[in-house]
Amino acid sequence: MFKKKTSFEKIDSYLSKKGYDLIMSLFLENYNNYYLYIRFDYVKTIQAYKITWIDMDFINYKHPENYINTQIMTRNMGIKLDRLLGSIDTENTYLEDDNILGDRVEIVFNNKFGYKEYTFSRFLPNELKSLFDPIIIVFTYLPRSMEVILEEMLAKYSGGEEYYNHLKPIKFNLKKDKIDDIFRKDVIERGKKYYEEGHVTFLEKIDNKYVALVSGDKPYLVIIEEIDEDFTLIRCTCPCEYYCKHEYATLLAIKEKKFNNFYKVRFIGKEETLLERIRNGAYSICCGVENDSLLIITNDNEIVKMPIILNGKKCFEVIEDDDDKSLSEYLKKF
Ligand SMILES: [Zn+2]
Repeated sequence: MFKKKTSFEKIDSYLSKKGYDLIMSLFLENYNNYYLYIRFDYVKTIQAYKITWIDMDFINYKHPENYINTQIMTRNMGIKLDRLLGSIDTENTYLEDDNILGDRVEIVFNNKFGYKEYTFSRFLPNELKSLFDPIIIVFTYLPRSMEVILEEMLAKYSGGEEYYNHLKPIKFNLKKDKIDDIFRKDVIERGKKYYEEGHVTFLEKIDNKYVALVSGDKPYLVIIEEIDEDFTLIRCTCPCEYYCKHEYATLLAIKEKKFNNFYKVRFIGKEETLLERIRNGAYSICCGVENDSLLIITNDNEIVKMPIILNGKKCFEVIEDDDDKSLSEYLKKF
């Protein structure tokens, strides 16, 4: 991580020597893992407005010119943004939410009403609605790949908050907190039923993550990662855009300590490019078989079918089996 204050000072003084006159800056601190410093300047030397952005994780202060990206604005748009900002008299506002890990936004500008500072977490709050249009204008001058950040930042206005929140770590202590608090009522009912009907077929703690396979219409992987004492990342491979029944059932299984380890297999065949990506470790996690294939869980949490026999040779050996040795028995047939 960079030293925030000195990093900004270096960039600011470099740009000010080049004739940049700061009107507004926007700092995204650990927003989707980005540390982005974005500025709106009037550049006297060329008499034009510019948008500048710098990835603060990726800058060498000996040669800042190689890392500072700028875009000249059309004259009309520059004037429009300058006027918009000049009319904002919202008081300094600090709305950081300690239920959110990272995703901090800091906006600073100076206009006829004085020096203004606004901070918030993840979503632009209603109190700062006057910044809605300026932010959109700034982002139209940034690379397309940053549009996802803009969409997320403005999710309060599009109704997408729940969707974005469920993709991020949540303030939740796996040992102490009640799981019902983070799920919709109807999901709790369905999740309990799923757990009771035995849909959580595998559950294992692997490194710092709980990994579960929850079977349903399709098998889905649930991964629960304790980020620190306060925050937990809960993910499922199903298409739900909120905390789902698979995750609820898994959390219940963790609470009840209903562990059931995955199979572990080792690839012993000849190297094949197709297989490269699943062989990044000494062993692969396997959640069962389907006809003449093993169901292997990749590092990207996908379940892929891998043939048991390749070029006439058996290419997996079992490292960890269940008590009945059912996987080893199954492989003997080949
Ligand atoms: Zn799910």
